[in-house]
Amino acid sequence: MTTIKQLYSLQELDLDLDGVNRRIAEAERELETRLSLGLIEESLEQARARLQEIQNTHRDLQLETESQRERSSHLDTQLYGGDVANPRDLEALQLEAANVRHQLEQQDVRLLELSLQAEDARNRIAALEQELADTQAAWEARQAELWEQLEELTDRQEALMKDRSTLAAGVDTIELTRYEGLRKSKGGQAVARVVRGLCQACRMSLPTQHLQRVRSGRQTVLCNSCGRMLLPG
Ligand SMILES: [Zn+2]
Repeated sequence: MTTIKQLYSLQELDLDLDGVNRRIAEAERELETRLSLGLIEESLEQARARLQEIQNTHRDLQLETESQRERSSHLDTQLYGGDVANPRDLEALQLEAANVRHQLEQQDVRLLELSLQAEDARNRIAALEQELADTQAAWEARQAELWEQLEELTDRQEALMKDRSTLAAGVDTIELTRYEGLRKSKGGQAVARVVRGLCQACRMSLPTQHLQRVRSGRQTVLCNSCGRMLLPG
């Protein structure tokens, strides 16, 4: 096998290896992300805090309403108990009783609103808990899938690396170094086939003399346009 053919085979292995390495990196990256779970957990935390806040407001208002109700019944007792005879005092008392009753009505409306808000918050929490459980289950299934993929990919990586070192051991060291340098500078492709006088990497046609040197296979010829090593046929 000529050096250029060996290098071309090596490149096929290297490109396979690049693909495997890329997929390993992708799987590892995906395993590190718990982003969607984190967002749901955050929303759930906020919804629970909101419910707590509503419940606190409700409890405070209820205490206030209870003392207002006591005040109201105390005023009614005074009004209808017959102890207050002075018309001006009675009028003031009536006015105050009406005020307290009005406040109580408003507080009852507000308490009802808060109860409805608490119910909404509870529903939201239940929905988020469900979403979290579903996402968690889906994530666990995906994780298992990714671990399985990683295992297969790592096996494939090992096999490719073994083949690569066997192949590389038989290649001229200087050519191998040149090949590796070109792989780095040419986006992974150091060797290009020549088909019908065209370099298959850059699609430029090669001068006849150049083509003859490629075909003779006695030395490694570089494409005069893209600089890659050329493989005849
Ligand atoms: Zn070229």
